[in-house]
Amino acid sequence: MGLFASGKEGKLVFYKTSAEIELMRNANLVVSKTLALVASMLKPGVTGEEIDKAAEEFIRDHGGRPAFKGYGSSENPFPGSLCVSYNDIVVHGIPSKREFKEDDIVSVDCGVELEGFYGDAAFTFAFQDVQEPTMELLRVTYASLLIGIEQAVHGKRVGDISSAIQEFCERKHPYGIVRDLVGHGVGRSLHEDPEVPNYGKRGKGPLILEGLVLAIEPMVNLGKKEVLQAEDGWTIHTRDRTPSAHYEHSVVVKKTKQISYLTTAF
Ligand code: MG
Ligand code: MG
Repeated sequence: MGLFASGKEGKLVFYKTSAEIELMRNANLVVSKTLALVASMLKPGVTGEEIDKAAEEFIRDHGGRPAFKGYGSSENPFPGSLCVSYNDIVVHGIPSKREFKEDDIVSVDCGVELEGFYGDAAFTFAFQDVQEPTMELLRVTYASLLIGIEQAVHGKRVGDISSAIQEFCERKHPYGIVRDLVGHGVGRSLHEDPEVPNYGKRGKGPLILEGLVLAIEPMVNLGKKEVLQAEDGWTIHTRDRTPSAHYEHSVVVKKTKQISYLTTAF
């Protein structure tokens, strides 16, 4: 789940101790295993509701709580355990009875709270008949995440992450990098400061120091950058209805080892 840009809620930057990071590792391990379970289930004909149900059972069986379920206002809490966002849906898609098709892409975002700490990661999966321009969008977006993570080093600034992602995505392609939603700190809350935009200027923004845990999550559109929110109050789709990709890892900034992934590749 991304954070709406400048959705400030008066939070503070929260640096984690090594003991707290180990607790966060446990939460993020459940996130990673849940996404691996989802990956094993995905095929044409399966529905978002089905993967959501399996994910919720898996998370609860491992002592966790699906962090997205009930998130938001009491009038319109998010109903799913996963965000399931296919094709032109960027993020925050509500799991539905719609069956996946052979030419779909589907972004699955998973958040888990375990022992008071949160984990957060997302992956865009492709079915077998996805067109090459969309496959290239997925490859570039995932590569931009890894390039952004390389900048999450003690002594750098958030703008170093943001600009690395933006420059990589825009180098060869006229992709639209989503501005309205951003990455974020993660820890005792799902969304902590600082915000981590996927666009920005090198050397600008908050300082990155040891013990900071960041959920870095480029959201990149095949077409233009503008997005709209659907009437359900959650679903974010591209304004021009082109496909969109979303990858997210939670990482720890360290002084010695520099970077530590809390979520793992699956
Ligand atoms: Mg997420
Ligand atoms: Mg997130």
